[in-house]
Amino acid sequence: VTRLVLVLGDQLTPDLSALAEADRARDVVVMAEVAAETEYVWHHRQKIVLFLSAMRHFAQELEEAGWKVAYTRLDDEGNSQSISGELLRRAEEQGAGEVLTTLCGDWRLRTEIEDLPLSVTVLPDRRFICDRPRFEAWAEGRKSLRMEYFYREMRRETGLLMDGDKPAGGEWNYDAENRKPASDDLFIPKPFTVSPDAVTQGVIDMIADRYPDGYGTLDGFGWAVTRGDAEAAAVHFFAECLRDFGTYQDAMLQGQPTLWHAVLSPYLNLGLLDPLDLCKRAAAAWEAGDAPLNAAEGFIRQILGWREFVRGVYDLQGPDYLTSNALGQSRDLPEFYWTADTEMACMADALGQTRDRAYAHHIQRLMVTGNFALLAGIDPAQVHAWYLAVYADAVEWVEAPNTLGMSQFADGGLFASKPYVSSGKYIDRMSDYCSGCTYAVGQRAGDGACPFNALYWYFLDRQRDRMEGNPRMAMIYRTWDRMAEKDRADALASARDILDRLDRGDPV
Ligand code: FAD
Ligand code: SF4
Repeated sequence: VTRLVLVLGDQLTPDLSALAEADRARDVVVMAEVAAETEYVWHHRQKIVLFLSAMRHFAQELEEAGWKVAYTRLDDEGNSQSISGELLRRAEEQGAGEVLTTLCGDWRLRTEIEDLPLSVTVLPDRRFICDRPRFEAWAEGRKSLRMEYFYREMRRETGLLMDGDKPAGGEWNYDAENRKPASDDLFIPKPFTVSPDAVTQGVIDMIADRYPDGYGTLDGFGWAVTRGDAEAAAVHFFAECLRDFGTYQDAMLQGQPTLWHAVLSPYLNLGLLDPLDLCKRAAAAWEAGDAPLNAAEGFIRQILGWREFVRGVYDLQGPDYLTSNALGQSRDLPEFYWTADTEMACMADALGQTRDRAYAHHIQRLMVTGNFALLAGIDPAQVHAWYLAVYADAVEWVEAPNTLGMSQFADGGLFASKPYVSSGKYIDRMSDYCSGCTYAVGQRAGDGACPFNALYWYFLDRQRDRMEGNPRMAMIYRTWDRMAEKDRADALASARDILDRLDRGDPV
């Protein structure tokens, strides 16, 4: 009998476990564009186009390889507009009672698929370097999970950047060399883009039609949607960017959205590129003398370390993780997260490029938009929904631990040893934003003071009971306590004024 092989939008890999297990002579691949997935958060329209166009190209690749594909387009008549609905419809149409699938990336859909009145076989997702049992074994019995220790084990197990049983160059981590600010007289590589082909243009037109007021610019869509073009993006990264990737990893420059970053996360997350392959290529570039060790190590750590680690955390924590709110934050997300309409130059730049490109690099996400949300006491569930909506690479298993854990400390420090908060000083050191800002970064309180400054102290003061015992925060509290009473009162009053403005929806 025919079985259905469900392939989801982020499972676009020819040797996916469900495809490897299936029989192309008798089974039918089911792929479906459904409103339940495009609309469960207010997704950036470029993100929707990227997923749907990549799915259409992958379906074509499968057909060329001899698979029978039952493909539903978003605007097809009879589309039930949910994954479970499409599986049931195809089961009836094909006379199939069995579904083969690969474990999907979010809890919501895992439950929907498992609850189907069909016989469903869920196979593990083998596209990760560290499988689920391996991560569980590593995490077992640990009170707090630290990426650095996990990463060292992964380095040993893969042999990447190893010199026998010692790390290449003598250190595991060269982060200290990766914090240099950049200036715009440096040669900054041009971002890699691909012009839309007819398939992509068709999807762009459909999405423009269906979501005329949807979030995000559609003009200038330049994402790769095929394995071949994703590979070209990787080639571009290794040739043009890897060399300086490490040194300027934390830098930010006005109007320079990508700098030396890889911009490969969407392709990794969709299954168009392989994580271990990218790590091996970075290690080979170092061995060949084409990239310094701090660059190769920094890049490998992001993928072999962080990416694998957050996948493990997501699986281990279960769906309740998504509602964590250890700091009791409850303010609504300001409207300017969607419009980019703010006087804060750093926020306007990060939010504007997010709207226009569905991309911001890590430090913009963590130390600008994430930092502001945390300092301003925004409800982490709303912050999570925003990050999940706005980035082309946003799939829940990677977005949620980054947002709720690393950025918002909503899990109470499961894997971050302290909250990533800073005043404007950090942003000023790492960027050129402040020189062009309405606000004064050197001013702590009063009219025209940088909002990050007053909010920083207000946050620390408000969270004192929770934070004071943390040895990594002790110095900051000592600095606060040494300030003159009036300075502290002024900072708190300024922060309250900013928060009132946020609550009223007034410009900030
Ligand atoms: P680079 O800086 O060039 O890094 C290379 C690769 O390393 C990336 O392509 C990515 O696959 C991996 N990587 C780097 N940092 C991380 C990390 N912290 N966690 C997991 N993988 C990492 N990443 C996503 O893929 N999807 C998300 O939805 C997402 N949401 C985030 C939300 C917040 C609040 C924060 C702080 C980070 C988030 N990240 C997310 C992690 C990181 O910011 C992006 O992976 C990175 O910016 C993607 O751009 P890049 O390919 O140019 O990365
Ligand atoms: Fe951002 Fe403050 Fe600098 Fe303005 S002064 S760019 S708000 S950090």
